[in-house]
Amino acid sequence: MNVLVINCGSSSLKFQLINAESEEVLAKGICERIGIDGRLTYQPEGGEKEISEKAMPTHTEAIQFVIEALTNPKTGVVKSLDEIGAVGHRVVHGGEKFASSVVITEEVKKAIEECNDLAPLHNPANLIGITACEKLMPNTPMAAVFDTAFHQTMPEKAYMYGLPYVYYENYKIRRYGFHGTSHSFVSKRAAEVMEKPYEDLKTIVCHLGNGSSVTAVMNGKSVDTSMGMTPLEGLVMGTRSGNIDPAIMEFIAEKENLDIAGVMDVLNKKSGVFGISGELSSDFRDLTNAMNSGDKKAKIAMDVFSYNVAKYIGAYAAVMNGVDDIVFTAGIGENDDYVREQVCSYLGYLGVDFDKEINTGLRGKQAEISKPGSKVRVFVIPTNEELAIARETLALVK
Ligand code: ADP
Repeated sequence: MNVLVINCGSSSLKFQLINAESEEVLAKGICERIGIDGRLTYQPEGGEKEISEKAMPTHTEAIQFVIEALTNPKTGVVKSLDEIGAVGHRVVHGGEKFASSVVITEEVKKAIEECNDLAPLHNPANLIGITACEKLMPNTPMAAVFDTAFHQTMPEKAYMYGLPYVYYENYKIRRYGFHGTSHSFVSKRAAEVMEKPYEDLKTIVCHLGNGSSVTAVMNGKSVDTSMGMTPLEGLVMGTRSGNIDPAIMEFIAEKENLDIAGVMDVLNKKSGVFGISGELSSDFRDLTNAMNSGDKKAKIAMDVFSYNVAKYIGAYAAVMNGVDDIVFTAGIGENDDYVREQVCSYLGYLGVDFDKEINTGLRGKQAEISKPGSKVRVFVIPTNEELAIARETLALVK
């Protein structure tokens, strides 16, 4: 069965058509500038990338163009819509309502909408994508795959904040965690590589991309994760601050004459390695180049980033009372050998025997970067959230 995987943002829509049995990507692309003007980038497997300007006043037109591209007699990859057996939608926030992926029904849509409060930038856009697909493909089953679902196994002691309990009761303020699809995918893959039962392992996954999070996976379940009620908590990220003393917010507001929205904007968009590096860049390739040419702030930014990853690994090894394997994934985790080396330089006491030779220059490929016999094994495992969504969707609609 071919599954169309949709990741819908407020003005963009990424898609992949995947043969869910062979796990082959048939075509992929992105619609951008939806609601502004509109641009479709489409690439069939093994074919040329096509970019075309198209008017996309709403997501419905965007999905219409995606369908046209996929079924185009020349460059398309299927003959008709009938060859798309299901649609899998990435949904960011499932709150406490969804501990796994589900087939989309009217009730499910309502429940997703009830989580809008918790992810005001993402969930409404995800719902728009779902509604647009329903309009154009009314007979195709659809599934929702949530970023938060994998973390619903966290115990209370990991998800409760030190805040009045009524805030949890009234507003559902608690840790939810994100990147769950990725943490689940790569931790399972690591178990396969180690040829050990997933249910027997203590794994720490470092998903390091523009947004970054670390997760403790014990016996196949997420038991703690660094992102919180929103994706702002935890690690220092590309432009997000991660953890700070909450009192800093009032302090900045006064010094910079900002309201709460202004402070949030600083913490989300002007902080992280971008902020520390003096607004040089949020991209680790730029930071590495700058650091290598002697830029002091770029080096501080890189060091702060790695140090924080190491702190979370230490914390999660403590709460799991040990760790069998550590996995690096996503843009930085898969590609940045300096960050991996820096992080692992803190982990000798845990029993990590790091293989610098294998690590150096390793980009985007699965590999073990600890030496044979290392007490804790360390891996680079490329994540593939689209494939994970296609698998979940297939399992649900079959
Ligand atoms: P997103 O959270 O947007 O999915 P990704 O997982 O794609 O992010 O990660 C994007 C980040 O990965 C970039 O901002 C960059 O910092 C980093 N990155 C990508 N390629 C490399 C590379 N070759 N070397 C170092 N960092 C890289």
